[in-house]
Amino acid sequence: MTTADKFKGVLFGQAIGDALGLGTEGMTTEDMAWKYPNGIQHYGQIFQDRHRKRWEIGDWTDDTDMMLCIAEAVIEDKGVNMQNIARHFKEWALGDPMGIGENTYKVLNIGDYVDRPFEVSKKIWEMSKCQSAANGGVMRTSVVGLFPKYVASCAENICKLTHYDPRCVGSCVIVSELIHALVYGEQVPTYGSMIAKSYMYDERIAEYIDKAWKEDDIANLMDDDFMGYTLVTLSVGIWAYWHSTSFVDGLLKVVNAGGDADTNAAVACAILGAKYGFDSIPTEYVEGLIYRDKLEDVTRGLNNILMASR
Ligand SMILES: [Mg+2]
Repeated sequence: MTTADKFKGVLFGQAIGDALGLGTEGMTTEDMAWKYPNGIQHYGQIFQDRHRKRWEIGDWTDDTDMMLCIAEAVIEDKGVNMQNIARHFKEWALGDPMGIGENTYKVLNIGDYVDRPFEVSKKIWEMSKCQSAANGGVMRTSVVGLFPKYVASCAENICKLTHYDPRCVGSCVIVSELIHALVYGEQVPTYGSMIAKSYMYDERIAEYIDKAWKEDDIANLMDDDFMGYTLVTLSVGIWAYWHSTSFVDGLLKVVNAGGDADTNAAVACAILGAKYGFDSIPTEYVEGLIYRDKLEDVTRGLNNILMASR
């Protein structure tokens, strides 16, 4: 498996997880049994209820939109400029995007966000009494794992552009560093090193890494009362890395577990794309993405900059 194959696997993995995950987003187990008695395997099966029919079959949602905001800013700057990433987030939010998360919406709609994004993001977090820890940062962090250097500090800062909570920041660093190591063939973080890393951010993270390691059944990670919680998404992502036997195996297990499935699968499948490579992804999932060409362009653009700087 080449680096380029794993690199492409991350970006396509994210988009495919997001696009198929829309099919079960927000569903409980009971709801899924009703709508998908035999589970969901293909985009064409996506149940067209009020929430889902706003998207065309094979479109991805906010998770991949925001990942592309980061990617496009990096391509423009041939490097990382936080203010330009913030500008891309803001422009995207001004387009009244579907599926935008509540915290992200609040932050990006403050008037002078682009001039002082970190202050705005911190203020919104403080207004939640430092309780808000949604998965809007981790859902878009996969691309940061492809950066050649300073992955942890880039993941931290890009997360904080909208999600200031240390649980969000730690989630982004752990996912980005795992992807980076897999793609570039560096020493892959172990269970123990992830636990150690998590304590650098927030002591509440470790329990979720532990669950991801010990639970064989993904259902035991899900919690209908905590849909959209960054630590649930983190645990599902690394669970898929530890417990899946292939890209498709992980994709289908995560999507058919419901909950915040588009985001959980975006994160999990970016990691699986790094582990198994683009070539391991069945073509129907790639060809079914209606904006596949855009993703190809971004992959090429990023590859040119990032691989050249290594
Ligand atoms: Mg989404």
